[in-house]
Formats: sequence, C-alpha cells, structure tokens
Amino acid sequence: MKRMSKYWSKLAARLEPYVPGEQLKDKKYIKLNTNENPYPPSPKALEAIKAAADGSLKLYPDPLAADLRSTLAEHYGLKSSQVFVGNGSDEVLAFSFMAFFNAEEEVLFPDVTYSFYPVYANIFNISYRLVPLAEDFSLPVEGFFNAEGGVIIPNPNAPTARAISSKDIEMILVNNKDKVVIVDEAYVDFGAESVVELVDKHENLLVVQTLSKSRSLAGLRVGWAFGQEDLIDGLTRVKDSINSYTLDRLALIGAAEAIKDEDYFQETRERIMATRERITASLENLGFKVIPSKANFIFITHENTPAEDIFKRLREEGVLVRYFNKPGIDNYLRVSIGTDEEMDAMIEKLLIVL
Ligand SMILES: *Cc1c(COP(=O)(O)O)cnc(C)c1O
Repeated sequence: MKRMSKYWSKLAARLEPYVPGEQLKDKKYIKLNTNENPYPPSPKALEAIKAAADGSLKLYPDPLAADLRSTLAEHYGLKSSQVFVGNGSDEVLAFSFMAFFNAEEEVLFPDVTYSFYPVYANIFNISYRLVPLAEDFSLPVEGFFNAEGGVIIPNPNAPTARAISSKDIEMILVNNKDKVVIVDEAYVDFGAESVVELVDKHENLLVVQTLSKSRSLAGLRVGWAFGQEDLIDGLTRVKDSINSYTLDRLALIGAAEAIKDEDYFQETRERIMATRERITASLENLGFKVIPSKANFIFITHENTPAEDIFKRLREEGVLVRYFNKPGIDNYLRVSIGTDEEMDAMIEKLLIVL
C-alpha cells in the first residue's frame, strides 16, 4: 500500500525511493547481498582516519576537497579541475542527473540496470527510455546512439555483471556528441576496461567511480566523477546550491590514503577475482548458469530450482543474497563475492537447499 501524509509536498508524495539491500542485525548472516567488499579497508586509510579524529573537527572541511581531488587526479593521470568528489557515487549520480539532463528530453539506460537511475529520473522529473538488453543480458550498443537527452550505463552493468569494451563506449560517445554520456564504473576494478583514458578525448564523457566496492569503504561514503572542466563545473554548481560540504574531514583524509595504498588495492581485488572464478566453476557444477562477470558479484540462475525459492531457503540457512522480483530477472539471484570461506559456506548451504 502506498503511504500518504497530508504534510508531504507533492514532490515527496510522488517519490518511489530506492530500496537498499537488507542490513540485518537480528542474527549473524553471511552477507552476500549488497556487494560490499569482504576485506577490511586499507590499514593505512584507517590509521589516517583515526589520526584525523581530533580538535580540528570543530572546523568545516575544505569545500573544494582540493587534496583529495589532486590525489585522484595524480593517480588517474588527470588534472584536479577534471575531478569532482561527492558523498558516495550515488550523490554524484544524483547531481549529474540535475546538472546534465532535462525534463523533456529522454535519457537512455538499459532496461536491466542499477535501480537508482529511474529513481533519480523520477525525483528530477526527467523523462527516460529503457533500452532492452539481449536475452543473454548483453548490451545493444547501437540502441544508445542519438539519445535525445543523454545516456547512463554502468560498466560492468548491475545486476548482470556483464561488461562492454571501451571501443563500444567510444561508439556511444561519438554517436551522442552533444549529450552527456555517463559511465558508472562502480565495479570496473574487478576486470572490466575503464574509460578514464578517454576523458581528454571526449568532452561529453563523465566517468563515475566509488570507494565503496573495490576499496572496501562503503561506510565512508566517497565517490567521484572524472570529466572535462565544463562537466565538472556543472556538477559543482549543483553541489554548491545544495550542500557545500558533502565530504567530511575524516572522509577526505581516509579516501586520499585509500587511493594511495595501491598495493593493498591490487591484492584485495585480485583475491576477489580469483574467488569469483573458482566459485563460478563450483556453481556451474551444481546446475547454475552464471552470467560472465567482471564485477565483485555474479548473476546466476538454476536449471531446476526457482530463484525465489533458493533465496528464501538460503536466508533461513543464514546466507543473504539479493533477489529482484522484476520481470526478466525474477529467476536470477545476485550473489556478492565474499571471502573464500564465506563462499564455501554458501556452497555447503546450497547443497542443502537445492
Ligand atoms: C554500489 C553502486 C553505486 C553507488 O555506490 P556508492 O556507495 O554510493 O558510492 C553506484 N552505481 C552502481 C551501479 C552501484 O552498484
């Protein structure tokens, strides 16, 4: 039933908010439902955050986030003026919808994708059209050409985990010269090709990334966008009309240290990719079809047992995965890649459940 209150604005009343994966407190679950990283954040980042928790918190943080932006710029081979940072990439994406898209011009995104996109379109009154994926969830590149209002695609896509090549993204950029193309690279570090190198070449490209997945810092809430100055300035105009201080002092410092700790980043992401490949093989032996994944999660369906049944039974067994009751994907489960121990425990439970 839709909730209502006489105190809500018309805007608040018509919203259909995003529903995040469960964060349960009642018992100890193996949590494979929100694509968090199973490994802790960089110890250097944690040390820096602890050291920064001092009297300086009485002061506002740097509204320009200059240090973090220059750290990101240096790490990715860009200029600071080509970097925007925000309170999680969700905020960066929300600002992007406001900064680059208009009500009457249709924005394109895949029909199976991150479910926050229609939520943003709805709050900002932006019209959109869903581009259907092929049956194997691959993305029809030409379907994204000549958009009226712009394009947003996650690469790899969520929740399918399928990636497309930089060449394909470049085709989409070239065929939307006057519109912004946003590539949401939340999962790119787990094996897909990033288009960060295309930023200097294409003035309509905005690349959005986050610390939440590959750098184990979902709790710190830091995301960013890379693009040419016009796009970054557009985002800054929106930010400074809502909240000048979206990142707090601890987040600014922790994020910069996490980016600098390249060794830790490489080690943890490689571990996750290795676990993913091993578990994919085990699941295939159990009768699952696994969509080829370049992310820290897999999208799976079983030849005999309905996904919803597996989801419910696994939950009873203390394993949380994500089930989307939506046409086209309602016989699939999205399973985040945990530690080897967690994934082995999941396989054990599947043997009971199937
Ligand atoms: C997780 C995720 C994000 C958001 O991450 P933040 O925690 O807000 O940085 C953005 N896009 C996709 C596709 C995601 O899965």
